[in-house]
Amino acid sequence: VVCLSRDISERASAEQERRIASIAFESQQGMIITDAKNRILRVNQAFTEISGYSADEAIGQDTRLLASGRHSPDFYLAMWRSIQQTGAWQGEIWNRRKTGEVYPEWLSISTVLDAQGAVSNYVAAFTDITERKQAEERIHNLAFYDPLSGLPNRRLLLDRLKQALAATVRSQQYGALMFIDLDNFKNINDLHGHQAGDQLLCMVAERLSGEVRGVNTVARLGGDEFVVMLEDLDAKAEYAAAQAEQIGERILSALGQPYRLGSLLVHSSASIGVVLLNSNDGDAEELMKRADMSMYEAKQAGRNALRFFDPRMQQAVQERLRLEDEIRRGLTAGEFVIHFQPQIERHRGLVGAEVLVRWQHPQRGLLTPVHFIGPAERAGLIEALDFVVLTQACEQLATWARQPSRAALTLAVNLSASLLYQADFVDRVLALLQRTGANPRLLKLEITESLLLDDMEEAVVRMRTLKQHGIRFSIDDFGTGYSSMAYLQRLPLDQLKIDQSFVRQLVEDASSQTIIRATCALASGLKLEVIAEGVETEEQRTLLIANGCDMFQGYLFSRPVPLEAFEALALEPVT
Ligand code: C2E
Ligand code: CA
Ligand code: CA
Repeated sequence: VVCLSRDISERASAEQERRIASIAFESQQGMIITDAKNRILRVNQAFTEISGYSADEAIGQDTRLLASGRHSPDFYLAMWRSIQQTGAWQGEIWNRRKTGEVYPEWLSISTVLDAQGAVSNYVAAFTDITERKQAEERIHNLAFYDPLSGLPNRRLLLDRLKQALAATVRSQQYGALMFIDLDNFKNINDLHGHQAGDQLLCMVAERLSGEVRGVNTVARLGGDEFVVMLEDLDAKAEYAAAQAEQIGERILSALGQPYRLGSLLVHSSASIGVVLLNSNDGDAEELMKRADMSMYEAKQAGRNALRFFDPRMQQAVQERLRLEDEIRRGLTAGEFVIHFQPQIERHRGLVGAEVLVRWQHPQRGLLTPVHFIGPAERAGLIEALDFVVLTQACEQLATWARQPSRAALTLAVNLSASLLYQADFVDRVLALLQRTGANPRLLKLEITESLLLDDMEEAVVRMRTLKQHGIRFSIDDFGTGYSSMAYLQRLPLDQLKIDQSFVRQLVEDASSQTIIRATCALASGLKLEVIAEGVETEEQRTLLIANGCDMFQGYLFSRPVPLEAFEALALEPVT
């Protein structure tokens, strides 16, 4: 009896355990039981509710069925390593529902061993934590973002600033921190109420974000104080300052546009303080303080202004601004003139000239392009300048057309990228030819390879149109860029201009000779003319001829000279 009664109680308690287990299995948590190879053996109702897969659909499948694809192989590797070593794993994981939706879950996996100690099953229990995640995100947003504008707040800015500073150590590039404060926000708030004020701040936030897209950060510190952090500026302080200044000017002009607040149109301006970011110059807090101080200086300077913390930067920027104003003035005053540097053909002698711009400065005398082309480009004045040069060249061609001895002279004009890509460039050139009566066949436009890199397709279209009207094209500084056969063929070119650097080394350096010989062969294959620039010695000329180049330009024949001197030149063929 004793024996029998023990038998029944064992059976009864096993039965009881199974019942408890199966109720526990149907809990609120999703449950999966797999075999040792991750094949699903059993799932519960909560599994189906969360994942969307019915028991029939899931059983027999690999658990990869649920993978979201959001985790790297390394993630799973670490998970399985933990399961092997400790028998369990738990953590957050992204999985995918049957609908395709990816969701976060809290997952714990345990191992079941058989009597021999080998893995027989895995048991996984998980809860959907989508809602918790969303709540966390809301809390995170409150902690790091300004609720009014949606911009990062001071805390997040400081975070990013520290990261940016660390990045400057690696990249050696500067960044910049700009403190921006509206000049009359208090008035607007007092006059039109807080609602109008809030609306204005949101518009400011939008305009700022619009001006500095990409890796840059726009933050709101509170009130009417904003910060823009620029990253990846130049590695040279002066250039970085120039870049920051340019963006700062754009910001000032964007914030200076009128704001429409309902039926109201209000005007505002801002003051900006700038400090360059470099890890050697103090920590984040210190840099913030400096940018703030410079902002107050900008206010003192009369508002709607930008000030650098570093007086040297301020001075460099001011000098550049002064030069830009000067260039603008010089353009109106007609101080930019052209000089001519002869181009010689071996059998025909003088065939034309390259037109090189000079600035007849009232105080500084005659200036060469190194002094003003770069600044003119940065100030957006190069198109105007190039067009002045092009106009003078066309007028000169028209004048020479009436002088039999000079009627066949060609003029080569340097063309900057910004002019070529200007929307109405082709029309403007055609109108200019019409107005001056210059023969387009005598006009050659010199372009550089770097110019073409911006938008090759568009450049080709424009060049083709102009070529149909007779204008010719030369590729300047040939050999210094990425000259590829592919685009040489696609461009409607007439001439290759071998860069001075090859000519300079020609006599000592055999590889320069090889390059020149190859260039000449390439040109003749493509039916292009070749000219060498920077020819200074008889020896260079002789070697050029020996290597197949028959056109020259350089000090050996003449420096660039004013019109009268050019017309007085009598350059004979080279025999
Ligand atoms: P570039 O187009 O390569 O012009 C040739 C430069 O080499 C000229 O300098 C010329 O004076 C100089 N050069 C000529 N022969 C010799 C020589 O035998 N030896 C040496 N060492 N140099 C020689 P420049 O006039 O100072 O012009 C410099 C650059 O400025 C030009 O280089 C061109 O890129 C740019 N530039 C000149 N005029 C204009 C213009 O109207 N528009 C634009 N966008 N750029 C221009
Ligand atoms: Ca040139
Ligand atoms: Ca050149």
